[in-house]
Order: sequence, then structure tokens, then C-alpha cells
Amino acid sequence: MKIICIGRNYANHINELGSERPLEPVFFLKPDSAVLPKKMPFFIPPFSDNVHFEVEVVVKINKVGKYIDQKFAHKYYDEIGLGIDFTARDVQEQCKEKGLPWEKAKAFDGSAVVGSFFKKHTLGDLCKLPFSLHKNGNLVQEGTTESMLWSVDELIAYVSQFLTLKKGDLIFTGTPSGVGPVTKEDQLLGTINGQKAFEIKVK
Ligand code: MG
Repeated sequence: MKIICIGRNYANHINELGSERPLEPVFFLKPDSAVLPKKMPFFIPPFSDNVHFEVEVVVKINKVGKYIDQKFAHKYYDEIGLGIDFTARDVQEQCKEKGLPWEKAKAFDGSAVVGSFFKKHTLGDLCKLPFSLHKNGNLVQEGTTESMLWSVDELIAYVSQFLTLKKGDLIFTGTPSGVGPVTKEDQLLGTINGQKAFEIKVK
């Protein structure tokens, strides 16, 4: 199983980080060891002083596919969930400055929170799917899939040109604005379409 993460898919997040708006989707991978085990707290890794949450809609691939046409992309997933792409922002900045890959900042153990999945037909219009993240009871991120630069189906078509998608692969579809740091004892609650998808504690 692999985790494909899309970067820079919401204009308001590109602006908040001062990043360049890409001409085509940006993606990177997390290994299966990045998945935070269910019911485990997220432990801030010792190599970072600035770990950020990024709440993202997650698509679970249900069959193998390569060079998937956008108009058939919807046949490759039937469950959608929500997760966090934890990012060691300080480490990522160093990698960006040196033009190095982001894995140290993005792919570390526990960096992928994968919440509950919901059958897509229960979620209404997938192009207008609302989601949110609360930290310690305060709303910190709020988005809708309507604001994505590239839709889920466009992302599947794009990524599958380069990588064979397999059953169980996850696509993290990018984060809206509002990303920020976590500190010990924080509580993070994610909702999608008004339903709780995960609740985790930071240690
Ligand atoms: Mg992200």
C-alpha cells in the first residue's frame, strides 16, 4: 500500500505558504509505515520544533489501474475519508531551500493520520464536500472540495500516468489554508460532511 499526497491543491494554502501556483499537480509519497496506528496518539518527532497539521480529504483506491481516463476515474474509488498530512515545516523549509526531496519532513512514522471512511454515495455531491479540523475545540481549518485546483478524478488521471494505482492505496488530496503547529496535549478532531472522521491526541 502506498500513500500519494497532493501538494498545493488549494489556492488559499498556496498563498499562506507563499508557494508558487503549480501548472500541474504536485505529488509526493508516504510509506505505509507513516500511517498512525488507530487509537494511538501522535508523538511529535524529536527532529522538529514546528510540526504542522494539514487536514485533507483522503480517497481509497479500490482496484488496480494505470493511465486511468478522467471520465472513468470514479470507478476506482468508492470510499472517501479524512486524514492529516503531518509536516515537519522547519525540516521541509530546509529541504526546499536546498532543493532536496521532502521525505524527511513528510514521510516519518505517524505522519499520516487516516480516519474513518464513508461510502461515497452517502456523502452527497463529492465536488462540494465540506470538511473541517478543530484543535482543542477551536475551528482551525475549514474547506470544501469545490476549492480544489484539481478534482479527485483529475488527480487520479494525472497520478496514474506515473504510478500504477493499486487496491488500498490512499490519495491525500491537499490541504486548504489554516495549517498550523501542534503542541503536546493538543486534541485534533476532523469532520467530513458533518461526520466525525478522527479524533487524536498529540504527545
Ligand atoms: Mg498536505
